[in-house]
Amino acid sequence: MSRLLIVEDEPNLAQGLKFNLEIEGYHTDVCETAEDALPRFGEYDLMILDIMLPKMSGIELLTEIRKQDYKYPVLILSARTAEEDILEGLSAGADDYITKPFSLPELILRIKRILQRQSWYSKTTKRTVRYTFGHYWIDFDAFKACTNSGEVELTHYECYIMKYLIENKHRTVSREELLEKIWGYDNPPETRSVDNFIARLRKHFEADRKNPKYLKSIRGVGYRFLDY
Ligand code: CA
Repeated sequence: MSRLLIVEDEPNLAQGLKFNLEIEGYHTDVCETAEDALPRFGEYDLMILDIMLPKMSGIELLTEIRKQDYKYPVLILSARTAEEDILEGLSAGADDYITKPFSLPELILRIKRILQRQSWYSKTTKRTVRYTFGHYWIDFDAFKACTNSGEVELTHYECYIMKYLIENKHRTVSREELLEKIWGYDNPPETRSVDNFIARLRKHFEADRKNPKYLKSIRGVGYRFLDY
């Protein structure tokens, strides 16, 4: 049974969420402040995090968590709906961002997806912690890589995409498949966002971005990772 920690200062919302998530089979606890949650988050598989909290904010808590654990799953659930707030949450390292008011089935679906992705990612990292191709390497555990600009930190999504393409190397993976497996959306955002990520990855791992060696485009379908 997965254990969830809700960090939420509105008692009614927190208790309602706890009740519904326990019906779904999750063990769920509530912290009303970020200060209470910080020493305890490691006991849980995933955190559902509000942003506007009494003292320390959700973003500050997330930043602290990321210093200790780069991979810990955090889903932000916030009344802040502005694009810049969502971007701030995601760039602070949230795995997902849901705005209030929210749909419960949607929240449950997103929790499931994050936990599935986490278990896929950590299972596979044991087999290939550091994957080498050409003079590049990716450390999937530390989210680091040796790229054209030296050793850099990769984002979670860059690692997820590389991991998925490498696991399916020599097979064409469609944009839709990547969106479903990596982002886990039933109604995927624009497939162009996949292309943007591939462009960033090529900047890291291709000597000649116009003639990619590893991250090939398959016209009209998607992408294929080739290893030599
Ligand atoms: Ca709040």
